[in-house]
Amino acid sequence: MQASLSLLPQTVSFLARKPKMLIGDRWLDAASGATMPVRNPANGEVLCDVPMAAESDVDLAVSAARRAFDDSAWSRMRPRERQNLLWRLADLLERDADMLAELECVNNGKSAQVARVMDVQLSIDFLRYMAGWATKIEGSTVDVSIPLMPDSHFHSFVRREAVGVVGAIVAWNFPLLLACWKLGPALATGCSVVLKPADETPLSALKLGELVLEAGYPAGVFNVVTGTGVTAGAALSHHPEVDKLTFTGSTEVGKLIGKAAMESMTRVTLELGGKSPTIVLDDADPHVAAAGAATAIFFNHGQVCCAGSRLYVHRKHFDNVVGEIASIANAMKLGNGLDPSVQMGPLISAKQQQRVFGYIERGRELGAHIACGGEQFGPGYFVKPTVLVDVAQKGPLVQEEIFGPVLVAMPFDDIDEVVRLANDSRYGLGASIWTNNLSAAHRMIPRIKSGSVWVNCHSALDPAMPFGGYKLSGVGREMGAAAIEHYTEVKSVVMNI
Ligand code: NAD
Repeated sequence: MQASLSLLPQTVSFLARKPKMLIGDRWLDAASGATMPVRNPANGEVLCDVPMAAESDVDLAVSAARRAFDDSAWSRMRPRERQNLLWRLADLLERDADMLAELECVNNGKSAQVARVMDVQLSIDFLRYMAGWATKIEGSTVDVSIPLMPDSHFHSFVRREAVGVVGAIVAWNFPLLLACWKLGPALATGCSVVLKPADETPLSALKLGELVLEAGYPAGVFNVVTGTGVTAGAALSHHPEVDKLTFTGSTEVGKLIGKAAMESMTRVTLELGGKSPTIVLDDADPHVAAAGAATAIFFNHGQVCCAGSRLYVHRKHFDNVVGEIASIANAMKLGNGLDPSVQMGPLISAKQQQRVFGYIERGRELGAHIACGGEQFGPGYFVKPTVLVDVAQKGPLVQEEIFGPVLVAMPFDDIDEVVRLANDSRYGLGASIWTNNLSAAHRMIPRIKSGSVWVNCHSALDPAMPFGGYKLSGVGREMGAAAIEHYTEVKSVVMNI
């Protein structure tokens, strides 16, 4: 299946030289010399080993970030220069886009072609969008009414200042893009960063580190520590010199990070799990809705925080829409993401594959009917795209995040019922409504408890639109102006003049 699929020479040489961690402007092994293997999920083979950071390595990285923030040219840099540097970084990503896409492919399992036009292009676009913010961070002047000192004149203003050293911890489903979602606003506002990529997917983050240095950022502005969540991630989230934590990952780990942050009142934003509904109203075009619902769940092999993993279809279209999604799923080509004709790659790991099969098995035991999929494929960590019907709204398949290509589908009869079902979840990240009735869409939007609502599309993200969750899906927002707010502190100044 994979013999004829070759990598670019620059990707091969990157993998061959045993990537190290970026601390300050030096590429280092872990002080202990410990390493961990990085695998290709399409075949389970080891691609390379990376350093496995201990607490002391994280400490070194945070110290480098602290120095960069407190003492260096970075803290004195003007907004225009921060803008130009970010733009330069985006240009370098563009130059190396094909290689970055290949790294995402071999390390995550996703299609290189899709990674080029989605993950890498969105990262470039996002950095350029954030470059624009560097020169637009504003405060305000305020006329105050302070009762003391009646004869005084006051000049009062509000400043926004960079929050400081940012500890960023990300998941494996969009390794480069999630890193850029943290890095962009941090570099636009003048923060410094220590990034801990996911255990499974450190490669594009290390390449990003190379590009940050090449762009000309001062030493320590961006540091990358590779290692496990329980050691390196925990050390970063408890570090007293970190001023802000920004996390993308599971709700379970997000709660740990939130608690660690509260101990020291470290600023924190959390982008967590989801169980997002796709809602097909009675007036929708069932073909359009079926194609949209299939993409909503199967894109990135279902490993998308806002994947449309719960499908609610008006009863009159239910059988048709489910049947069409099953046909789309059955026709999908699974395989190695280096093959441009492949439509779905493997899941990230054997553990994730077993977890997903565990849910499918549980569904069977609980009486669900499998409309398609439910099986393994190939030697890698593949799960065939799966649709389950006859599932209980209160059961685990509908309430828990599976994080794989598994859709649960249920019929409904009226709008009030589907709003109640859609909101009957601990999560609230995204939702899509499929309809040709503008007024029905507008009336539903305020009733849906989620951070994003899409109409006749799903997971439609843009750098200018804030993204984040209601309920257990998180705290704070990424992207848009909201991101700048989360990377700055507000300082009120009152001058008696
Ligand atoms: P995860 O929570 O297991 O791991 C995420 C990161 O946290 C990794 O870097 C990991 O090493 C680190 N980590 C693990 N334990 C830690 C600890 N005790 N202390 C500090 N760090 C620790 O999540 P995952 O399995 O990598 O990713 C899947 C999850 O991410 C899903 O729930 C998905 O919905 C979520 N996600 C959310 C968004 C969003 O924007 N809302 C985006 C992508 C993924």
